[in-house]
Amino acid sequence: MRGKVVIVTTGGTIAMVKSPGGGVVPLEGGNRLITAIEGLQEIAEVELIDFSNIPSPHMTPSRMLKLSKRVNEILRREDVKGVVVTHGTDTLEETAYFLDLTVDSEKPVVMTASMRNINELGTDGPRNVLSAVRVAASDEARGHGVLVCLNDEIHAAREVTKTYTSNVATFDSPGYGNLGIVDEDAVIFFRRSLTRSVYRVDRIEEMVYLHKTFTGDDGRVLLELPRMGYKGLVVEGFGRGNVPPKLADVLEELVVEWSMPVVLVSRCFKGRVLNVYAYKGGGADLRSRGVIFGQEVSGQKARIKLMVLMGLTNDMDRIRKEFEKMGKAREIHV
Ligand code: ASP
Repeated sequence: MRGKVVIVTTGGTIAMVKSPGGGVVPLEGGNRLITAIEGLQEIAEVELIDFSNIPSPHMTPSRMLKLSKRVNEILRREDVKGVVVTHGTDTLEETAYFLDLTVDSEKPVVMTASMRNINELGTDGPRNVLSAVRVAASDEARGHGVLVCLNDEIHAAREVTKTYTSNVATFDSPGYGNLGIVDEDAVIFFRRSLTRSVYRVDRIEEMVYLHKTFTGDDGRVLLELPRMGYKGLVVEGFGRGNVPPKLADVLEELVVEWSMPVVLVSRCFKGRVLNVYAYKGGGADLRSRGVIFGQEVSGQKARIKLMVLMGLTNDMDRIRKEFEKMGKAREIHV
């Protein structure tokens, strides 16, 4: 059945050109070119909503929340089969994960982008939009949560990350692989990602900091966070979830003295953190000091999740439960 796909544009290289000065910049009206792609209207009836035209490093959590509310609204329309969101690649995985956590619909939401700008030789924008619209218009894409489609691969927002600064094959899901592909004759899914949670949020807590640890880290700088108004912290520890001994004391102080949720994830891009090591700063030691384990998500995604959860509750136990449960597909938490 031919349905309507709404393309919500936010900006990124897909709406940029090289300026006479040589630098690549947003093109006024660049988003509108997206619907002018040959063959697009044959796939679905396409409607364009020009949400913003910003480089994705200018994306903010409050804009993500606004975007999420808009996408939820669009998906409630009966005539809409799916939504495509165009975005810069740099922070696409953060917005994708934000939408995955906060968009409450079984209809497909597919994010896409380009690595090459509009007038660059071999630009990948039009092809990526065409493929993303095919995914959004397909029945197979329903119920997967938010998807990311570039270079004819389909990835889960929960798993995908930008891996290459310049190559068009930049998006990958390390440790998982793609969910499926877009081929000339079909949209094909090989598997399903089973860790989706959805939260209905009206507000989020934006003051969540992200810290990547390093050898010799004394963590002292983090003691400034409460005074600066930060309410939550995500720490990217080493390996299984371990940090230098002095940082362990700082994290405990933030949890105990400031009631700040501190979520631990790993600098490794595959695998979960766990309370394995009991030496000072090891995962088991951190757990006994009140640190929350963020499972397998990356630091940037754990920060998004903490912002969303803290928009719902300040209850540390509830936040811990939401991070430490092993996800089951489509659990809804209000
Ligand atoms: N810096 C650009 C951005 O994220 C790159 C891109 O769009 O892919 O907006």
